[in-house]
Amino acid sequence: MTNPTHLTIYNPANGNQITTLPITTPTEIQEKFQKLQIGQKIWGAKKPEERLAIIQSFGVLVQSHIDELAKTLTQETGKPITQSYNEIRGAHNRIDHLTKEGLSWLSEEIMITDPLTEKIVYEALGVVANISAWNFPYNVGYNVFLYALFAGNAVMYKPSEFATLTGQKITNLLYEAGVPENVFQCIIGGGATGQALLDLPLDGYFFTGSHATGQKIAQVIAPRLVPLQLELGGKDPLYVMDDIQDIKQAAINAAEGAFYNAGQSCCAVERIYVHEKIYPEFLHYFIDEVRSYVIGDPMDPSTFIGPLTRKAQRQVLLNQIEDAISKGGILEAGGKIPQNNGHYFEPTVISHAHHEMTLMQEESFGPIIGLQRVRSDEEAMKWMQDTPYGLTAAVFSQDKERALQVLAQMNTGTVYWNCCDRVSPNLPWSGRKNSGLGSTLSHQGIRAFVQPKAYHLRG
Ligand code: NDP
Repeated sequence: MTNPTHLTIYNPANGNQITTLPITTPTEIQEKFQKLQIGQKIWGAKKPEERLAIIQSFGVLVQSHIDELAKTLTQETGKPITQSYNEIRGAHNRIDHLTKEGLSWLSEEIMITDPLTEKIVYEALGVVANISAWNFPYNVGYNVFLYALFAGNAVMYKPSEFATLTGQKITNLLYEAGVPENVFQCIIGGGATGQALLDLPLDGYFFTGSHATGQKIAQVIAPRLVPLQLELGGKDPLYVMDDIQDIKQAAINAAEGAFYNAGQSCCAVERIYVHEKIYPEFLHYFIDEVRSYVIGDPMDPSTFIGPLTRKAQRQVLLNQIEDAISKGGILEAGGKIPQNNGHYFEPTVISHAHHEMTLMQEESFGPIIGLQRVRSDEEAMKWMQDTPYGLTAAVFSQDKERALQVLAQMNTGTVYWNCCDRVSPNLPWSGRKNSGLGSTLSHQGIRAFVQPKAYHLRG
């Protein structure tokens, strides 16, 4: 089989071809790497203030081009246009946070001055790979390449083949802001091109994507003993306790956590446990809410559910539904592929869910959710922890102490009380177990992109 020379970009809302782009060849990848090795030395030697100023200019440029950027994101991923605007505006909080705190993170730390000076200096890693996902290319991209650049690294950036036009636009705006071309390079292509990056002797690998691909990457990179960070998938649980006063509002919030971006968020609510005392009422409001969602053209600002980005995911969802129904699940809403040329899938709710179903065990990454009735906090905790993933877990309750007792037991990088599906630049973003390795964001996240050097200075 010959390797393709071009990548075809499709619009998932109608299946039409948008454009084709030449795939970066192995020789070009090698040339880009050599360029980056040279550029990093100069970039890394700049003052962090200078690099921060360039990142701030990039942030201003992004906001001034937001109409064009949001349109491109919606056209190539199918994300509803209002959600594209939300993402691009929201991602700017990383730049605000770097502006407020970043310089202190990179400052040298003097530990003692007598009888000798001991200090820690944070040095850049060198040239690093950022292999990125398509579902939130601004959020997950910024988490890596902005922090890596700020810390003085050069970046080999591989956007997902489903968000390549966005990746190219981001690259051009970085250049316009003043990031030299020999400090940031974009690689075009599919999984095979991502794999070609693994053949390079890079100084760090930062991957956002599925557990399956993350594991393949780890197998190649681990023996080289260079930093490797993996932000992977999840099967994030939400438990709704029986003390909730406003059951309707809880159902609306839970549905948004499950169905925003058609469920294609790494920290989307993927399974819901509801205390038996409120289960019927909660289910009633939840179904009402999901049935009210406007499904349609993602360019229309009234659309809440657009098409899925990847057509193939629809078969995964159909299989989960079939499996759930065969094991006693009740299809309360959706369940079908609408008759049109886009990659749409009806928002789907399955009640009477339980853990024999793949719906409650495997990442769905689509507009589908299972609701399971539980009798106690202990039972909820048991099911919430019955997963190989460890990204986030949420509890809705009036009682903070009771919620915290459950959340403290969760083996996840993030927990939420009365909220869900959110990421903050103030807090580390990390997955445990099959959800990943290492963390981005916050003062902890910057450490991924630097290496400490210990100075012992006598004299
Ligand atoms: P994939 O694992 O399919 O792909 C991720 C990236 O890796 C893409 O750029 C892909 O290229 C590339 N790639 C694929 N195969 C290889 C390979 N063998 N070697 C190197 N690179 C390769 O994930 P998706 O893009 O489908 O993203 C969805 C997944 O990402 C979900 O599981 C989601 O939960 C997770 N995710 C996790 C986040 C977190 O912060 N924890 C945030 C966002 C998403 P190409 O697309 O061109 O094939």
